[in-house]
Amino acid sequence: MAPFAKTGGLGEVIGSLTNAIRGLGHDVSVFMPRYRSIDIQQWELEKVIDYFEVIIGNQLEATRIFMKKFANGVKVYFVEHPDFFMRDELYGTVLGDYQDNDRRFTYFQRATLKAVEKLKLAPDIIHCNDWQTGFIPVYLKTLEANYAPFQKARSIFTIHNLGYQGNFPPDSFLATGLGWEFFKSDFLEFYGKFSFLKGGLVFADAVTTVSERYSREIQTKEFGCGMEGVLTARKESVTGIINGIDPKDWDPETDRDIDAQYSVRNVSPKKVNKAVLQKENGFKTDENIPLIGFVARLVDQKGLEILIPILDQLAQENMQLVVLGTGDEKYHQILRDLAKKNKKWLGVHILFDAKLAKKIYAGSDMFLFPSYYEPCGLGQLIGLRYGAVPIGRAVGGLADTIQEFDPVLHQGNGFLFEDYSSEALLAVIRRALKIFKQEKLWKTLVENAMESDFSWTASAKKYEQLYETVKRRPFNIAKS
Ligand code: ADP
Repeated sequence: MAPFAKTGGLGEVIGSLTNAIRGLGHDVSVFMPRYRSIDIQQWELEKVIDYFEVIIGNQLEATRIFMKKFANGVKVYFVEHPDFFMRDELYGTVLGDYQDNDRRFTYFQRATLKAVEKLKLAPDIIHCNDWQTGFIPVYLKTLEANYAPFQKARSIFTIHNLGYQGNFPPDSFLATGLGWEFFKSDFLEFYGKFSFLKGGLVFADAVTTVSERYSREIQTKEFGCGMEGVLTARKESVTGIINGIDPKDWDPETDRDIDAQYSVRNVSPKKVNKAVLQKENGFKTDENIPLIGFVARLVDQKGLEILIPILDQLAQENMQLVVLGTGDEKYHQILRDLAKKNKKWLGVHILFDAKLAKKIYAGSDMFLFPSYYEPCGLGQLIGLRYGAVPIGRAVGGLADTIQEFDPVLHQGNGFLFEDYSSEALLAVIRRALKIFKQEKLWKTLVENAMESDFSWTASAKKYEQLYETVKRRPFNIAKS
């Protein structure tokens, strides 16, 4: 949950959705691990439980719970376990996932439910997010099913990215505390392993994902990551609710991290941000040269395999490109090498830096999203708000939030392409560069982009409706 810890969209969404739900008058508590980055003094965390034990396999794990209450009433509880969570990263290093993620997140889920009991919270809805929480709906209907307040709670499982499933070998299953009768394909077994994510998909009272388009895509073989059968079987309970961004957190008019503030009524200072970005990347400072940004986790999903092969052609286009990201080592290497050879127009920054990301959104004319799949994507929403016109592949949330610009009708807020190929990507970039040269048209497009509304208002209401519907469903214990 941002601002405490984030690796991408999930952290961002939990940070802002909780405020939006709170804004509708609900009591909201969040549980997350106390990662190393979350300092007790800095955040003035209050210790609310000093000690309790959680059984994981045949080991007792000591637990402490801290809490932060924000002025608006949102409470965030931190599950502390030094061995599991006081590490440099959240899920793994460049070398791969931490080997004990099975134990870490089995522990997190069990400790969270125990803490909810000890704190005597009586939730109506337990909203679980991604594989790290997939067994919570399972526990609510099995090991925790006799605890009366949980019989009143209903669970929702939201898929932020189906590609991350938390699948582990049978050996690890013992630690979950569940009986082997659940290690079956009707329940938790998934191609010889067990899957946290599948637990959420099978056991939650409702399943959502972060755009309507993605909710349909994941029921197909192409995008289902092996879960399409499970999802299709539950299709009545699977819906898509598009993510929003908090307009206060992402506002070029008040953003102090950028060099010049601007708004849709006064776009012109955006040029200052562009000039700074050009200068800091060692590019020629010229407002007529289009500057394109790319900020993402550097993983296959984000389309680097179709972007990298066209860099030679882009070099001919009199444009500039700034890349910010971290991820797979292979991409770090390739991009660093390319940047050395193309200093004049290609800037590469291999790190996670929220401030630099903002400067890139503010200084870019366009932003690239050539994703193979994209559940929702926040980058294009931020890009729109900062007047960096999105160029994206017509999948998932990109297709639901970007409308192709029509130069005749002056409608639309970006550019879309269909085929996952370098040719299609190059063609759409060239289409955008052509419009960029037509100053008046471009100005209209930037205004359209900045006026697109992806605040949480509408989506938070949809979650509220879903919570109400799910709350009325009867409680049932899972039978094997
Ligand atoms: P995902 O959740 O798949 O990573 P999203 O587009 O939903 O993708 O969210 C990514 C968020 O993380 C965006 O706000 C993006 O700007 C930010 N981000 C990604 N990589 C970096 C980075 N290296 N430095 C700063 N911010 C980043």
